[in-house]
Amino acid sequence: MEFTNRIPRATSAALFDEARQYFPGGVNSPVRAFKSVSGPPLFIRKGQGSRITDEDGNQFIDFCCSWGPLIHGHNNDRIRELVIETVANGASFGAPTRLGNALGKLILDNHPYIERMRFVCSGTEAVMSALRLARGVTGKNKVLKFEGCYHGHVDSLLVKAGSGLATLSTSTSAGVPESYARETIVIPLNDREALEQTLAEHGHDIACIIVEPVPANNGLLLQDASFLQCLRLKAYKHNVLLIFDEVISGFRVGFAGAAGRYGIQPDILTFGKIIGGGFPVGAYAASAEIMSHVAPDGPVYQAGTLAANPVAMAAGFASLEQCLVPGFYEDLEEKTARFTARIQTYCDQQDYTVTIPHIGSIFWIAFSREQIQRADQIETASMEKFKIFHHELLQRGVYLGPSGYEVGFISAAHTEADLEEAATHLCAALDVVFGN
Ligand SMILES: *Cc1c(COP(=O)(O)O)cnc(C)c1O
Repeated sequence: MEFTNRIPRATSAALFDEARQYFPGGVNSPVRAFKSVSGPPLFIRKGQGSRITDEDGNQFIDFCCSWGPLIHGHNNDRIRELVIETVANGASFGAPTRLGNALGKLILDNHPYIERMRFVCSGTEAVMSALRLARGVTGKNKVLKFEGCYHGHVDSLLVKAGSGLATLSTSTSAGVPESYARETIVIPLNDREALEQTLAEHGHDIACIIVEPVPANNGLLLQDASFLQCLRLKAYKHNVLLIFDEVISGFRVGFAGAAGRYGIQPDILTFGKIIGGGFPVGAYAASAEIMSHVAPDGPVYQAGTLAANPVAMAAGFASLEQCLVPGFYEDLEEKTARFTARIQTYCDQQDYTVTIPHIGSIFWIAFSREQIQRADQIETASMEKFKIFHHELLQRGVYLGPSGYEVGFISAAHTEADLEEAATHLCAALDVVFGN
């Protein structure tokens, strides 16, 4: 396969040097710094459809898609047009707008698992608010989470299991008080015994179980439906609320997300990413009864100056409206399955240690033959392989998120030809990784 052996990245490198004088590590979100792969991060000038162009003029087929929001690809016509039409009337009013109603109605009419919702400005904010709501409704304090699930940079969720007892959690970030970490219990995914035991011991003190039903922030740790159903039943039994953090899976693995896909009714759901069509929007949602606890109806306070910003609502509306076109998710899913099968078949022929878990339009390249369902099954050594892989892909014009723990996303704008081209490059990059 022909490719430029060395893509020039001088402009990105210079911009990154400049950025280091302004931002910690030169970035405004840590993973963007390319720390776990090689070279300076690419500074992106523009995106169109499935492709992005960096400041040096290199083009890439993009599987990061802004970390998930861009399910229609870059610079989607309908989103752009509605955003421009909306912003022409002013950017923000701090007052209700018709567009907020329109997006709320569109979502609630088509998502059978929720009755009321509140818009916020990010996934982190949605999760933070959902925890407060769960605590406010139950009058209990502790949160049960799973190792390998990411829920944004909320204090009490930047916590991992300590050694020994599940209750001895330790913070994964400086600046989180130990007393907060103590309110969080962390157990492994797919471990019913740990779940049963923790609920039996601490259920009286646990406000909620929070889970990514499609864990996609630490590899793609697809769970058995029976484990998710078990969470539902145990939560009912112990009077604990079940929160599905659907910031990635929401509107991605189907319009009704993982709740719809697995047919499970969570108590509270959180959204982000796709819901804003590329603009900063998050939301949390639940039954009318649970949401009645939120201010100004109820005592759980939560507010936002730019919440339901009309320009962001317009982007979300234009995005989700297109997701409702019949066959939309089926097409995406079939494309993704064909793409991953093409690469998997090649890896099997060549005897490469690679598995490509996928669901809907999310996929993950795992340098392993195991079916990985828990964070501790991921070998750190495999990240060295990813580093080579990522570098080789950049050289060939394919952009993946710059960490082996990140999943890839396929958008409606990725054509069959794009995916064939990309698959060829992925296979060639794997040849280099495996020294073939
Ligand atoms: C991205 C993500 C978040 C955080 O959302 P931000 O908009 O980055 O704050 C929370 N939970 C999950 C599951 C996510 O994937």
